[in-house]
Amino acid sequence: MRKQDLARVRASLEGQLAQLLGQGVETVHEMAGQAGEELPDPNDRATREADRSHALRLRDRDRKLIAKIEEALGRIEAGTFGRCDSCGGRISPARLKARPVTTFCIDCKREAELRERV
Ligand SMILES: [Zn+2]
Repeated sequence: MRKQDLARVRASLEGQLAQLLGQGVETVHEMAGQAGEELPDPNDRATREADRSHALRLRDRDRKLIAKIEEALGRIEAGTFGRCDSCGGRISPARLKARPVTTFCIDCKREAELRERV
């Protein structure tokens, strides 16, 4: 991947990461604010429980994405970004631009998906 492409990917990963981390902080504040208050209406309590489990699920997904983005940034730092984890070959720049957190080239990814299906 060319230097300016790499810089662009890195900037977009960093932006995404900042956004995800910002969201995480908001969610934690919201939940901390709600924890102390007592809701007399059972319906309200049920709604709050549903909100909370929804927020937790979201955060679980975000956490995984955050870890992937941090890994990708680490690979950029280490100069190994764009190498396939499986065969060591180069991942195509088009694929990296579309999905910078990927660690497999398209061939290995397809093969892995085929194996999962069997
Ligand atoms: Zn590969």
